[in-house]
Amino acid sequence: MITVEEAQAILRAAAVRPHTETVRLERALGRVLAKDAVSKIFMPPFDKSAMDGYALAAGDASARYRVGETIPAGSVPARALHKGECAKIMTGGMLPRGAGVVVRKEWTIEKDGWMRIDRPDESPNVCLKGEDVRPGDIVLKKGTRIRPQEIGILASLGLGAVAAYAPPAVAVIATGSEIVEPGRPLGKGCIYDSNSYSLASQAVKAGAAVKIRRRAADRPALIRKSIAGALERCDIVLISGGVSAGDLDFVPGILRELGVALHFEQIAIQPGKPTVFGTRRGKIVFGVPGNPVSTFVIFEVFIKPVLARMMGLEEEPFTVRAAMEKDLLRRKTERAAFVPVRLRDGAVIQLDYHGSAHINALGRADGLLYIPKGHAGYGAGSRVDVRLV
Ligand code: AMP
Ligand code: MG
Repeated sequence: MITVEEAQAILRAAAVRPHTETVRLERALGRVLAKDAVSKIFMPPFDKSAMDGYALAAGDASARYRVGETIPAGSVPARALHKGECAKIMTGGMLPRGAGVVVRKEWTIEKDGWMRIDRPDESPNVCLKGEDVRPGDIVLKKGTRIRPQEIGILASLGLGAVAAYAPPAVAVIATGSEIVEPGRPLGKGCIYDSNSYSLASQAVKAGAAVKIRRRAADRPALIRKSIAGALERCDIVLISGGVSAGDLDFVPGILRELGVALHFEQIAIQPGKPTVFGTRRGKIVFGVPGNPVSTFVIFEVFIKPVLARMMGLEEEPFTVRAAMEKDLLRRKTERAAFVPVRLRDGAVIQLDYHGSAHINALGRADGLLYIPKGHAGYGAGSRVDVRLV
Protein backbone atom coordinates (compact mmCIF):
# COMPACT_ATOMS: atom_id res chain seq x y z
CA MET A 1 0.00 0.00 0.00
CA ILE A 2 1.49 3.35 -1.00
CA THR A 3 1.58 6.46 1.18
CA VAL A 4 -0.31 9.68 0.60
CA GLU A 5 2.91 11.34 -0.55
CA GLU A 6 3.70 8.51 -2.97
CA ALA A 7 0.20 8.69 -4.41
CA GLN A 8 0.56 12.46 -4.83
CA ALA A 9 3.88 11.96 -6.63
CA ILE A 10 2.31 9.43 -9.02
CA LEU A 11 -0.51 11.87 -9.75
CA ARG A 12 1.88 14.74 -10.36
CA ALA A 13 3.76 12.60 -12.88
CA ALA A 14 0.60 11.80 -14.85
CA ALA A 15 0.53 13.66 -18.17
CA VAL A 16 -2.30 16.13 -18.66
CA ARG A 17 -3.07 18.12 -21.79
CA PRO A 18 -4.75 21.44 -21.08
CA HIS A 19 -6.54 22.99 -24.08
CA THR A 20 -6.66 26.71 -24.69
CA GLU A 21 -9.55 28.79 -25.95
CA THR A 22 -10.57 32.43 -26.23
CA VAL A 23 -13.18 33.40 -23.66
CA ARG A 24 -15.24 36.58 -23.49
CA LEU A 25 -14.87 38.37 -20.20
CA GLU A 26 -18.42 37.74 -19.05
CA ARG A 27 -17.75 34.01 -19.21
CA ALA A 28 -14.21 34.07 -17.82
CA LEU A 29 -14.95 33.83 -14.09
CA GLY A 30 -13.18 30.80 -12.59
CA ARG A 31 -11.05 30.20 -15.68
CA VAL A 32 -7.25 30.21 -15.71
CA LEU A 33 -5.26 32.53 -17.96
CA ALA A 34 -3.41 30.62 -20.69
CA LYS A 35 -1.29 33.69 -21.62
CA ASP A 36 0.05 36.67 -19.71
CA ALA A 37 -2.44 39.55 -19.85
CA VAL A 38 -0.50 42.53 -21.24
CA SER A 39 -1.80 46.09 -21.13
CA LYS A 40 -2.04 48.12 -24.32
CA ILE A 41 -2.91 51.30 -22.47
CA PHE A 42 -1.83 53.63 -19.66
CA MET A 43 -3.87 53.33 -16.48
CA PRO A 44 -5.09 55.86 -15.67
CA PRO A 45 -5.14 56.84 -19.35
CA PHE A 46 -4.71 60.59 -18.47
CA ASP A 47 -3.92 62.75 -15.43
CA LYS A 48 -7.17 62.90 -13.51
CA SER A 49 -8.73 64.28 -10.37
CA ALA A 50 -9.33 61.96 -7.43
CA MET A 51 -11.79 64.41 -5.83
CA ASP A 52 -14.59 66.81 -6.58
CA GLY A 53 -12.84 70.17 -6.15
CA TYR A 54 -10.76 72.82 -7.84
CA ALA A 55 -7.72 72.15 -10.00
CA LEU A 56 -4.85 74.65 -9.76
CA ALA A 57 -1.16 74.87 -10.57
CA ALA A 58 1.11 73.05 -8.14
CA GLY A 59 2.66 75.54 -5.73
CA ASP A 60 0.25 78.36 -6.60
CA ALA A 61 -0.34 79.95 -3.19
CA SER A 62 -2.55 82.83 -4.37
CA ALA A 63 -4.95 84.33 -1.81
CA ARG A 64 -7.84 83.55 -4.15
CA TYR A 65 -8.39 82.01 -7.57
CA ARG A 66 -10.60 83.01 -10.45
CA VAL A 67 -12.90 80.07 -11.25
CA GLY A 68 -12.69 79.22 -14.97
CA GLU A 69 -14.27 76.28 -16.76
CA THR A 70 -16.05 73.30 -15.19
CA ILE A 71 -14.57 69.90 -16.08
CA PRO A 72 -16.89 66.90 -15.65
CA ALA A 73 -15.56 63.34 -15.99
CA GLY A 74 -15.48 62.36 -19.66
CA SER A 75 -14.77 65.78 -21.12
CA VAL A 76 -11.54 67.39 -22.31
CA PRO A 77 -10.57 70.73 -20.71
CA ALA A 78 -10.62 73.64 -23.11
CA ARG A 79 -8.00 75.90 -21.55
CA ALA A 80 -4.68 75.81 -19.70
CA LEU A 81 -4.49 77.15 -16.12
CA HIS A 82 -2.35 80.09 -15.06
CA LYS A 83 -1.33 81.43 -11.67
CA GLY A 84 -4.33 82.72 -9.74
CA GLU A 85 -6.77 80.59 -11.75
CA CYS A 86 -8.56 77.36 -11.00
CA ALA A 87 -11.00 75.05 -12.77
CA LYS A 88 -13.94 73.35 -11.12
CA ILE A 89 -13.31 69.64 -11.61
CA MET A 90 -15.24 66.44 -10.82
CA THR A 91 -13.82 63.12 -9.65
CA GLY A 92 -12.39 61.38 -12.71
CA GLY A 93 -12.19 64.63 -14.67
CA MET A 94 -9.12 65.29 -16.84
CA LEU A 95 -6.67 67.80 -15.35
CA PRO A 96 -6.27 70.88 -17.53
CA ARG A 97 -2.78 71.79 -18.76
CA GLY A 98 -0.89 73.67 -16.07
CA ALA A 99 -2.79 72.01 -13.20
CA GLY A 100 -0.87 69.94 -10.65
CA VAL A 101 -3.18 69.60 -7.67
CA VAL A 102 -6.86 69.49 -6.77
CA VAL A 103 -8.21 71.07 -3.59
CA ARG A 104 -11.23 69.17 -2.37
CA LYS A 105 -14.48 71.11 -2.61
CA GLU A 106 -15.34 70.70 1.07
CA TRP A 107 -12.26 72.70 2.06
CA THR A 108 -12.95 75.70 -0.18
CA ILE A 109 -15.35 78.60 -0.39
CA GLU A 110 -16.62 79.78 -3.78
CA LYS A 111 -18.29 83.19 -4.17
CA ASP A 112 -18.92 85.46 -7.15
CA GLY A 113 -16.63 83.51 -9.46
CA TRP A 114 -13.73 83.35 -7.00
CA MET A 115 -12.50 80.45 -4.89
CA ARG A 116 -10.64 80.70 -1.57
CA ILE A 117 -8.97 77.79 0.19
CA ASP A 118 -10.45 77.47 3.66
CA ARG A 119 -8.25 74.65 4.84
CA PRO A 120 -5.04 73.59 3.07
CA ASP A 121 -5.19 70.20 1.42
CA GLU A 122 -1.94 68.26 1.98
CA SER A 123 -2.82 65.64 -0.60
CA PRO A 124 -2.47 66.54 -4.30
CA ASN A 125 -5.66 64.51 -5.01
CA VAL A 126 -4.58 63.59 -8.51
CA CYS A 127 -3.96 60.23 -10.21
CA LEU A 128 -1.18 60.53 -12.76
CA LYS A 129 -1.33 58.99 -16.22
CA GLY A 130 0.22 55.50 -16.12
CA GLU A 131 0.84 55.47 -12.35
CA ASP A 132 -0.88 52.05 -12.06
CA VAL A 133 -0.13 50.41 -15.40
CA ARG A 134 1.81 51.28 -18.56
CA PRO A 135 1.58 49.80 -22.07
CA GLY A 136 3.48 46.52 -22.22
CA ASP A 137 3.11 45.79 -18.49
CA ILE A 138 2.14 42.21 -17.62
CA VAL A 139 -0.84 42.80 -15.36
CA LEU A 140 -1.81 39.16 -14.76
CA LYS A 141 0.42 36.18 -15.31
CA LYS A 142 -0.37 33.02 -17.24
CA GLY A 143 -1.72 30.46 -14.75
CA THR A 144 -3.71 33.02 -12.74
CA ARG A 145 -7.19 31.92 -11.67
CA ILE A 146 -9.69 34.59 -12.73
CA ARG A 147 -11.67 35.81 -9.74
CA PRO A 148 -14.08 38.79 -9.76
CA GLN A 149 -11.16 41.11 -9.01
CA GLU A 150 -9.22 39.81 -12.03
CA ILE A 151 -12.34 40.32 -14.17
CA GLY A 152 -12.31 43.94 -13.03
CA ILE A 153 -8.62 44.35 -13.84
CA LEU A 154 -9.02 42.89 -17.33
CA ALA A 155 -12.08 45.02 -18.05
CA SER A 156 -10.31 48.19 -16.82
CA LEU A 157 -7.63 47.60 -19.44
CA GLY A 158 -10.17 47.16 -22.20
CA LEU A 159 -9.44 43.45 -22.62
CA GLY A 160 -12.85 42.07 -23.59
CA ALA A 161 -11.66 38.50 -24.18
CA VAL A 162 -8.76 36.43 -22.85
CA ALA A 163 -6.91 33.23 -23.69
CA ALA A 164 -7.94 30.72 -21.03
CA TYR A 165 -7.62 27.00 -20.47
CA ALA A 166 -10.68 24.96 -21.31
CA PRO A 167 -12.43 23.41 -18.31
CA PRO A 168 -11.72 19.66 -18.20
CA ALA A 169 -14.77 17.57 -19.13
CA VAL A 170 -15.71 15.43 -16.14
CA ALA A 171 -17.89 12.34 -15.86
CA VAL A 172 -19.24 11.26 -12.48
CA ILE A 173 -20.57 7.71 -12.17
CA ALA A 174 -22.00 6.56 -8.84
CA THR A 175 -22.20 2.80 -8.59
CA GLY A 176 -24.37 0.80 -6.20
CA SER A 177 -27.67 -1.06 -6.41
CA GLU A 178 -28.74 0.62 -3.16
CA ILE A 179 -28.42 4.24 -4.24
CA VAL A 180 -31.52 6.23 -5.14
CA GLU A 181 -31.97 9.60 -6.83
CA PRO A 182 -32.80 12.28 -4.22
CA GLY A 183 -36.45 13.27 -4.50
CA ARG A 184 -37.61 9.70 -5.19
CA PRO A 185 -39.07 7.41 -2.52
CA LEU A 186 -36.44 5.48 -0.59
CA GLY A 187 -36.95 1.69 -0.80
CA LYS A 188 -36.00 -0.76 1.94
CA GLY A 189 -32.24 -1.16 2.32
CA CYS A 190 -31.55 1.79 0.06
CA ILE A 191 -29.87 5.15 0.60
CA TYR A 192 -29.87 8.35 -1.36
CA ASP A 193 -27.06 8.97 -3.81
CA SER A 194 -25.13 11.85 -2.34
CA ASN A 195 -21.79 11.13 -3.99
CA SER A 196 -22.70 11.90 -7.58
CA TYR A 197 -23.96 15.29 -6.40
CA SER A 198 -21.11 16.12 -4.05
CA LEU A 199 -18.42 14.99 -6.52
CA ALA A 200 -20.02 16.90 -9.38
CA SER A 201 -20.22 20.03 -7.22
CA GLN A 202 -16.63 19.69 -6.11
CA ALA A 203 -15.61 19.38 -9.77
CA VAL A 204 -17.64 22.46 -10.76
CA LYS A 205 -16.24 24.43 -7.83
CA ALA A 206 -12.75 23.48 -8.99
CA GLY A 207 -13.55 24.97 -12.41
CA ALA A 208 -14.32 21.81 -14.40
CA ALA A 209 -17.34 21.11 -16.62
CA VAL A 210 -19.43 18.12 -15.58
CA LYS A 211 -20.69 16.50 -18.80
CA ILE A 212 -22.03 13.26 -17.31
CA ARG A 213 -23.51 12.54 -13.90
CA ARG A 214 -25.19 9.17 -13.60
CA ARG A 215 -25.79 6.12 -11.45
CA ALA A 216 -25.11 2.48 -12.29
CA ALA A 217 -26.38 -0.52 -10.32
CA ASP A 218 -23.85 -3.15 -9.24
CA ARG A 219 -24.07 -5.09 -12.50
CA PRO A 220 -20.82 -5.43 -14.43
CA ALA A 221 -22.40 -4.89 -17.84
CA LEU A 222 -24.05 -1.64 -16.72
CA ILE A 223 -20.96 -0.32 -15.00
CA ARG A 224 -18.77 -1.23 -17.98
CA LYS A 225 -21.10 0.54 -20.40
CA SER A 226 -21.23 3.68 -18.26
CA ILE A 227 -17.47 3.85 -17.86
CA ALA A 228 -16.79 3.11 -21.54
CA GLY A 229 -19.16 5.90 -22.61
CA ALA A 230 -17.65 8.32 -20.10
CA LEU A 231 -14.12 7.56 -21.30
CA GLU A 232 -15.16 8.43 -24.87
CA ARG A 233 -16.76 11.75 -23.98
CA CYS A 234 -14.76 13.10 -21.03
CA ASP A 235 -11.19 13.90 -19.99
CA ILE A 236 -11.57 12.55 -16.49
CA VAL A 237 -13.93 9.92 -15.08
CA LEU A 238 -14.79 9.80 -11.38
CA ILE A 239 -16.43 6.60 -10.18
CA SER A 240 -17.83 6.25 -6.68
CA GLY A 241 -18.28 2.88 -4.96
CA GLY A 242 -17.40 -0.60 -6.06
CA VAL A 243 -13.67 -0.40 -5.37
CA SER A 244 -13.48 -2.22 -2.02
CA ALA A 245 -13.11 -5.91 -1.22
CA GLY A 246 -16.79 -6.91 -1.48
CA ASP A 247 -18.19 -9.49 -3.90
CA LEU A 248 -19.90 -6.72 -5.87
CA ASP A 249 -16.91 -4.39 -6.09
CA PHE A 250 -16.41 -4.70 -9.82
CA VAL A 251 -14.81 -1.38 -10.74
CA PRO A 252 -11.05 -2.20 -10.77
CA GLY A 253 -11.61 -5.35 -12.85
CA ILE A 254 -13.82 -3.49 -15.33
CA LEU A 255 -11.26 -0.71 -15.67
CA ARG A 256 -8.59 -3.28 -16.57
CA GLU A 257 -10.90 -4.91 -19.11
CA LEU A 258 -11.42 -1.51 -20.69
CA GLY A 259 -7.68 -1.06 -21.11
CA VAL A 260 -7.20 1.40 -18.26
CA ALA A 261 -3.73 1.07 -16.73
CA LEU A 262 -4.10 1.16 -12.94
CA HIS A 263 -1.25 3.02 -11.22
CA PHE A 264 -2.42 2.41 -7.67
CA GLU A 265 -5.32 0.62 -6.02
CA GLN A 266 -4.85 1.47 -2.37
CA ILE A 267 -3.49 4.37 -0.38
CA ALA A 268 -2.53 4.24 3.30
CA ILE A 269 -5.16 6.82 4.15
CA GLN A 270 -8.26 7.07 6.28
CA PRO A 271 -10.84 7.56 4.95
CA GLY A 272 -10.50 6.40 1.35
CA LYS A 273 -8.04 3.50 1.41
CA PRO A 274 -9.28 1.56 -1.68
CA THR A 275 -8.84 4.55 -4.00
CA VAL A 276 -7.94 3.55 -7.57
CA PHE A 277 -6.13 5.70 -10.11
CA GLY A 278 -5.74 4.80 -13.77
CA THR A 279 -5.06 6.28 -17.19
CA ARG A 280 -5.98 5.36 -20.75
CA ARG A 281 -4.68 7.29 -23.78
CA GLY A 282 -4.47 10.61 -21.96
CA LYS A 283 -7.76 10.07 -20.08
CA ILE A 284 -7.75 9.93 -16.29
CA VAL A 285 -9.88 7.68 -14.08
CA PHE A 286 -10.40 7.69 -10.34
CA GLY A 287 -12.37 5.05 -8.44
CA VAL A 288 -13.21 6.21 -4.94
CA PRO A 289 -14.86 4.27 -2.12
CA GLY A 290 -18.54 5.01 -1.72
CA ASN A 291 -18.70 6.25 1.84
CA PRO A 292 -19.49 9.93 1.36
CA VAL A 293 -16.74 11.36 3.55
CA SER A 294 -14.19 9.15 1.76
CA THR A 295 -15.41 10.38 -1.60
CA PHE A 296 -15.25 13.99 -0.44
CA VAL A 297 -11.79 13.75 1.13
CA ILE A 298 -10.26 11.84 -1.79
CA PHE A 299 -11.52 14.48 -4.17
CA GLU A 300 -10.06 17.32 -2.10
CA VAL A 301 -6.68 15.70 -1.54
CA PHE A 302 -6.01 13.81 -4.79
CA ILE A 303 -8.48 14.66 -7.56
CA LYS A 304 -8.66 18.44 -7.20
CA PRO A 305 -4.92 18.94 -7.80
CA VAL A 306 -5.16 16.84 -10.99
CA LEU A 307 -8.11 18.92 -12.22
CA ALA A 308 -6.14 22.05 -11.38
CA ARG A 309 -3.22 20.89 -13.52
CA MET A 310 -5.63 19.97 -16.32
CA MET A 311 -6.70 23.59 -16.38
CA GLY A 312 -3.23 25.10 -16.18
CA LEU A 313 -3.06 25.79 -12.44
CA GLU A 314 -0.29 24.78 -10.07
CA GLU A 315 -2.27 25.51 -6.91
CA GLU A 316 -1.07 24.51 -3.48
CA PRO A 317 -3.87 23.58 -1.07
CA PHE A 318 -4.95 26.59 0.95
CA THR A 319 -4.11 26.01 4.60
CA VAL A 320 -4.64 27.96 7.79
CA ARG A 321 -2.44 27.58 10.87
CA ALA A 322 -4.31 27.26 14.16
CA ALA A 323 -3.95 25.70 17.62
CA MET A 324 -5.65 22.46 18.71
CA GLU A 325 -8.44 23.15 21.20
CA LYS A 326 -8.17 19.63 22.67
CA ASP A 327 -6.04 16.53 22.21
CA LEU A 328 -6.61 14.63 18.97
CA LEU A 329 -4.72 11.39 19.51
CA ARG A 330 -5.04 7.95 17.95
CA ARG A 331 -3.68 4.48 18.68
CA LYS A 332 -3.52 3.06 15.15
CA THR A 333 -1.04 4.94 13.00
CA GLU A 334 -0.49 2.68 9.99
CA ARG A 335 -2.52 5.00 7.77
CA ALA A 336 -2.47 8.76 7.37
CA ALA A 337 -5.74 10.42 8.34
CA PHE A 338 -7.71 13.44 7.23
CA VAL A 339 -10.10 14.56 9.95
CA PRO A 340 -12.88 17.11 9.37
CA VAL A 341 -12.51 20.02 11.81
CA ARG A 342 -14.00 23.40 12.52
CA LEU A 343 -11.98 26.61 12.81
CA ARG A 344 -13.00 29.30 15.26
CA ASP A 345 -10.94 32.24 16.55
CA GLY A 346 -7.63 30.61 15.75
CA ALA A 347 -8.59 27.27 17.33
CA VAL A 348 -9.05 23.87 15.68
CA ILE A 349 -12.24 22.38 17.05
CA GLN A 350 -13.01 18.68 16.73
CA LEU A 351 -16.42 17.68 15.47
CA ASP A 352 -18.75 14.92 16.45
CA TYR A 353 -17.52 12.60 13.69
CA HIS A 354 -18.56 8.95 13.42
CA GLY A 355 -16.38 8.00 10.48
CA SER A 356 -16.50 7.91 6.72
CA ALA A 357 -20.27 7.38 6.35
CA HIS A 358 -21.06 10.43 8.50
CA ILE A 359 -21.47 13.07 5.83
CA ASN A 360 -23.37 15.33 8.23
CA ALA A 361 -20.11 16.03 10.03
CA LEU A 362 -18.90 17.79 6.88
CA GLY A 363 -21.65 20.37 7.18
CA ARG A 364 -19.93 21.79 10.24
CA ALA A 365 -16.39 21.40 8.92
CA ASP A 366 -14.25 24.26 7.64
CA GLY A 367 -11.27 22.12 6.82
CA LEU A 368 -9.41 18.83 6.97
CA LEU A 369 -6.62 18.16 9.45
CA TYR A 370 -3.87 15.89 8.16
CA ILE A 371 -2.25 13.36 10.48
CA PRO A 372 0.65 11.66 8.68
CA LYS A 373 1.22 7.92 8.71
CA GLY A 374 3.10 6.81 11.84
CA HIS A 375 1.98 9.94 13.69
CA ALA A 376 -0.19 9.65 16.82
CA GLY A 377 -1.88 13.03 16.42
CA TYR A 378 -1.70 16.39 18.15
CA GLY A 379 -1.94 17.52 21.75
CA ALA A 380 -4.04 20.46 22.91
CA GLY A 381 -2.34 23.75 22.09
CA SER A 382 -0.12 22.38 19.33
CA ARG A 383 -0.19 24.42 16.15
CA VAL A 384 -1.34 22.63 13.01
CA ASP A 385 -2.15 23.43 9.39
CA VAL A 386 -5.77 22.92 8.37
CA ARG A 387 -6.60 22.52 4.69
CA LEU A 388 -9.70 24.58 3.96
CA VAL A 389 -12.55 22.87 2.11
P1 AMP B 1 -18.84 0.84 -1.61
O1 AMP B 1 -17.60 1.66 -1.75
O2 AMP B 1 -19.55 0.64 -2.90
O3 AMP B 1 -18.52 -0.47 -0.93
O4 AMP B 1 -19.81 1.63 -0.65
C1 AMP B 1 -19.44 1.92 0.67
C2 AMP B 1 -20.58 2.57 1.40
O5 AMP B 1 -20.89 3.81 0.80
C3 AMP B 1 -21.86 1.77 1.40
O6 AMP B 1 -22.49 1.89 2.65
C4 AMP B 1 -22.68 2.43 0.32
O7 AMP B 1 -24.05 2.27 0.51
C5 AMP B 1 -22.27 3.87 0.45
N1 AMP B 1 -22.41 4.55 -0.82
C6 AMP B 1 -22.01 4.06 -2.02
N2 AMP B 1 -22.31 4.91 -3.01
C7 AMP B 1 -22.92 5.97 -2.42
C8 AMP B 1 -23.48 7.16 -2.94
N3 AMP B 1 -23.45 7.46 -4.25
N4 AMP B 1 -24.03 8.04 -2.08
C9 AMP B 1 -24.02 7.76 -0.76
N5 AMP B 1 -23.52 6.65 -0.22
C10 AMP B 1 -22.98 5.74 -1.03
MG1 MG C 1 -21.09 -0.42 -3.57
